[in-house]
Amino acid sequence: MSDAEIGIIGGSGLYQMADLADVEEREIDTPYGPPSDSIVLGTLEGQRVAFLPRHGRGHRISPTEVPYRANIYALKLLGVERLVSINAVGSFREDMAPMDIVIPDQLVDRTVHRVNTFFQDGIVAHIGFAQPFCPEMRALACGAAMSTGATVHGRGTHIVIEGPQFSTLAESVMYRSWGADIIGMTSLPEARLAREAEQCYVSVAFVTDYDCWHPTHGSVTTDMILSCLLKGAETARSIVRNLLCNLPAGRSCGCGSALGDAIVTPAHLVPEATRLKLEPITGRYLPGPPQW
Ligand SMILES: [Zn+2]
Repeated sequence: MSDAEIGIIGGSGLYQMADLADVEEREIDTPYGPPSDSIVLGTLEGQRVAFLPRHGRGHRISPTEVPYRANIYALKLLGVERLVSINAVGSFREDMAPMDIVIPDQLVDRTVHRVNTFFQDGIVAHIGFAQPFCPEMRALACGAAMSTGATVHGRGTHIVIEGPQFSTLAESVMYRSWGADIIGMTSLPEARLAREAEQCYVSVAFVTDYDCWHPTHGSVTTDMILSCLLKGAETARSIVRNLLCNLPAGRSCGCGSALGDAIVTPAHLVPEATRLKLEPITGRYLPGPPQW
């Protein structure tokens, strides 16, 4: 019996879900340390959800320092199978304007200081990541976002940089030339780890600025982003509520079996400490030794 099947990871500007009922706060520890904050369990539209503010309440944790593995692991421990991630992003396209919403379908990884896998210490797995977001959740998120009346872009390539500084002009121009549509700092390794944990993952990205490439908008500033986000927080909550109303009971995507053919290391060669650590993620693939 899981505590919550749906997880919501709040990004910059979304530090709480005000409309949860029957709220319970959980302090969880993991083999990767504690998550970004205590996880709030509550009922929304008749479903139990788990809410975690990625940067911690008060925005204390930088994109590099977010404990991505602890966050995904802790949500997995609670039984979360489907994740909705809220992200603030810059735009590389004139037609993706501030206050627009993008449901990206692709990612480009430009992070450099983050551990991006659960599979190490004697176990190797290579999950498929050609389509980094859950197709079923993307369709639901698009519909949920459109029903708020916002301008919604149903696809986009999201480039993830290390930060915490914004891009140089040369970088911004280069990312545009690569075909990237939006830029942020936190969707990776989060999406990779969610796939490894066999969770569905979708990003609802709020455009806050035009990065620095735009000739008439000048450089992006933190003030610009935060004022946009405060306005977007209520829309984010509406999108989550709409999405929950239309969420089918079971999953029909392939996310729940992502590890099925991904683990390369034979079970008998996986060190026992590693097997135990990964039990919540790999338990059905790496059963323990027989109990006599
Ligand atoms: Zn899925």
